[in-house]
Amino acid sequence: ELKLAARVAAIKPSATMAVTAKAKELQAAGRKVIGLGAGEPDFDTPQHIKDAAKAAIDAGFTKYTAVEGTPELRRAIVAKFARENGLSYQPAQILVSSGGKQSFYNLAQVLLEEGDEVIIPAPYWVSYPDIVLLAGATPVILETGLDSHFKISPAQLEAAITPRTKLLVLNSPSNPTGSVYSEAELAALAEVLLRHPQVWIASDDMYEHIRWDGAPFRNILNACPALYERTMVLNGVSKAYSMTGWRIGYAAGDARVISEMAKIQSQSTSNACSISQVAAQAALEGDQGFIKEMNTAFKARHDFVVAALNDIKGIRCAPADGAFYCFFSVADAIAATPGVSDDVEFAAWLMEKAEVALVPGSAFGAPGYLRLSFATSLDNLKEAMRRLKAALA
Ligand code: PLP
Repeated sequence: ELKLAARVAAIKPSATMAVTAKAKELQAAGRKVIGLGAGEPDFDTPQHIKDAAKAAIDAGFTKYTAVEGTPELRRAIVAKFARENGLSYQPAQILVSSGGKQSFYNLAQVLLEEGDEVIIPAPYWVSYPDIVLLAGATPVILETGLDSHFKISPAQLEAAITPRTKLLVLNSPSNPTGSVYSEAELAALAEVLLRHPQVWIASDDMYEHIRWDGAPFRNILNACPALYERTMVLNGVSKAYSMTGWRIGYAAGDARVISEMAKIQSQSTSNACSISQVAAQAALEGDQGFIKEMNTAFKARHDFVVAALNDIKGIRCAPADGAFYCFFSVADAIAATPGVSDDVEFAAWLMEKAEVALVPGSAFGAPGYLRLSFATSLDNLKEAMRRLKAALA
């Protein structure tokens, strides 16, 4: 009998990856499935970033680096925070990891213990609850909906905080909803947090640059500098520079916490890939024109998709402010479809009937919704909308 650790039974594999796998399986069987499940930009990594990586290989930069990241990349990250976010850090406050996912994992391992509660607003990025569970702590999910633009209120936060609350996770712009908290909304949440000094904040800014609302990016530290001591800012190059495969994320915060996170990393994966670190540095220090080009495309697709979805019976979709997702209600469509009782069955039904792959909202803690990624061509999106409309007519 195979006997495994209890901790693996408590967590589940990523649902977004499962949808992609199912779509690929149908495609391999000759079906023309349009995959709208992707969690990564569909653009190529900019050439100057690839060139920097090639030069690093040729120069022999192919060995271990410092666990925390190269001094050059950490300095580039410090400069990025000063330049783009008005936040001041020393290099010792920065840890480079193998993707933003590892940054959050390291933080959870360092901060959380059994009995600790972590407040996670839903819909959430699929990995937060499982990474919290792996650290032995308890996710406390706050529900939101379309009518509050999927944002939590200060009263909701206040009601969820207990003496055992250790961490609040904020993700704006949000995966999966594309919602962005305004500076005023963040200031109102901060006011609650100031009354509860035991609560740390993880500000996951991964989608900082995927926005088209025109307003400057603001995180909770911009809204409330007094939270500096207990906020860990998480970011990376995956989405902003279309570098998901390079695996570079970073964390910034209290030097003591960062150094413990580095200790965890030193005994698990060591440094992030040396070549990718050079590429990430080139991304942060080089020409930023790519971001604008990408956002122009995302904005056009977003506008098309939101209008098209709202034109389909049984679907309600609010505009997003950022990221590359639409998160829309299919509650009415589910009710009107015989043999289908929830969003998981509905997504499976759409995959069969319309050959469009979407991720059920349940995966993000929000049943009754679906997530659509518009990180694909406008032609694909047009065909997908035509199929959805026909299936639900
Ligand atoms: N945070 C959010 C909200 C995300 O959606 C993702 C990726 O999907 C990440 C962090 C982690 O990104 P990566 O580990 O690919 O750098």
